[in-house]
Amino acid sequence: MAQTPTPPIDATGADEADLTGVAPRTKAKPSVEKIGDRKLKPSTLMMGHGYDPMLSEGSLKPPIFATSTYVFPNAAAGKRHFEGVTGKRPGGSQGLVYSRFNGPNQEILEDRLGVWEEAEDALVFSSGMSAIATLLLSMVKPGDTIVHSGPLYAATETLIARILGRFGVQWLDFPAGATREEIDAVMTKAATGNVALIYLESPANPTNALVDIQAVRASRDAIFTGENKPPIAIDNTFLGPLWLKPLEHGAEIVVYSLTKYAGGHSDLVAGGVLGSKEHINTIRLMRNTIGTICDPNTAWMLMRSLETLELRMSRAGENAVKVCAFLRSHPKVERVGYLGFLADTPGMERQADIYARHCTGAGSTFSLIVRGGETEAFAFLDALKIAKLAVSLGGTETLASHPAAMTHLSVSDERKQALGITDNLVRISIGVEDPDDLIADFEQALDSI
Ligand code: PLP
Repeated sequence: MAQTPTPPIDATGADEADLTGVAPRTKAKPSVEKIGDRKLKPSTLMMGHGYDPMLSEGSLKPPIFATSTYVFPNAAAGKRHFEGVTGKRPGGSQGLVYSRFNGPNQEILEDRLGVWEEAEDALVFSSGMSAIATLLLSMVKPGDTIVHSGPLYAATETLIARILGRFGVQWLDFPAGATREEIDAVMTKAATGNVALIYLESPANPTNALVDIQAVRASRDAIFTGENKPPIAIDNTFLGPLWLKPLEHGAEIVVYSLTKYAGGHSDLVAGGVLGSKEHINTIRLMRNTIGTICDPNTAWMLMRSLETLELRMSRAGENAVKVCAFLRSHPKVERVGYLGFLADTPGMERQADIYARHCTGAGSTFSLIVRGGETEAFAFLDALKIAKLAVSLGGTETLASHPAAMTHLSVSDERKQALGITDNLVRISIGVEDPDDLIADFEQALDSI
């Protein structure tokens, strides 16, 4: 929904007379999305889309709306807004109501987030996990099955298996790199029960394995005929929204930890969900109930981040190409697990094929497998001077961490082995620094092992 003025624009054509008492400048001017036949690009739209300065005293940038509640022009408008908030009328509220439901900063941000993937609608959340939890809670009931790719981000796996499991929700998974036949086999088994959702993560955290979204869609459409098709949702945190656009490949809902590339400065925590109006309406009702919306200040910071998203991601991606080329040839390096190397890695033909069909860039997050074990990996990490030793990814600064001893410490040894999370594996997220400075840092750290 565009920046919602109070009182509302009545888009349904209902009698506006009962919503009046309005000052003349209350209608948000539609943003310019085209010049002649030319459709403007997301990087252009991030500067103004969804915001009308004239609704905010001419302020070039949207102010931060620090308020918990909004004044209704009259009782009829309040009633109408609550019809939207409670789902009596689909599409969300047509006016501003209460900051657990909506706010100008969040609505402008949602409009802009949707632009990158041409999604019909979008929602923002207080974290990636609150976005995922709200999505799952809005879709499942006891007895349902979630079919998912594996591995998933550890907290998502916990949420599905251990937390929703307590409420009678079951799950079945297939490995991220599964073929159409392997996906079909899992879907067929799951289809004996009620499948509420197909949930993917690509590339998977932490293996970087890609999911064949096109094959999942074809499998879903072949196996679930008629009305009962479970929607396909995907966590696009690692490559989105620049290098992978899952809605173009058959997914219907896209999930983000906006904490990562979208926020991009390692200074906020937030989440997002994009998709069709129908799905977003369902998820919005759950968000309204449990209050997982992001706060206005974070929304404002994210709007600022989105203005430079393409610049930051492009530079980080270019840096990663150079850094990975250097790392790959260093004698102390056993292997570099980087999507850009799939095409010339023996045994990775299927992953390379998925990459070629789905992705427009390899991102800037990869694994570095040093020769040796934990001692050598720790020595490398401790010697870094520019790259910071911290978990997370997608920020302007380069980060490095040790999954086996940090993010995946509690994962069993067998599962770590199955996922390839070895003691000599270091996870790196490249930022926007000078690439040659980064190479100098990695070189001195490798030499010091
Ligand atoms: N999804 C993926 C792929 C992630 O890597 C993360 C966090 O690292 C999340 C979801 C959770 O996001 P947040 O930390 O913003 O809750």
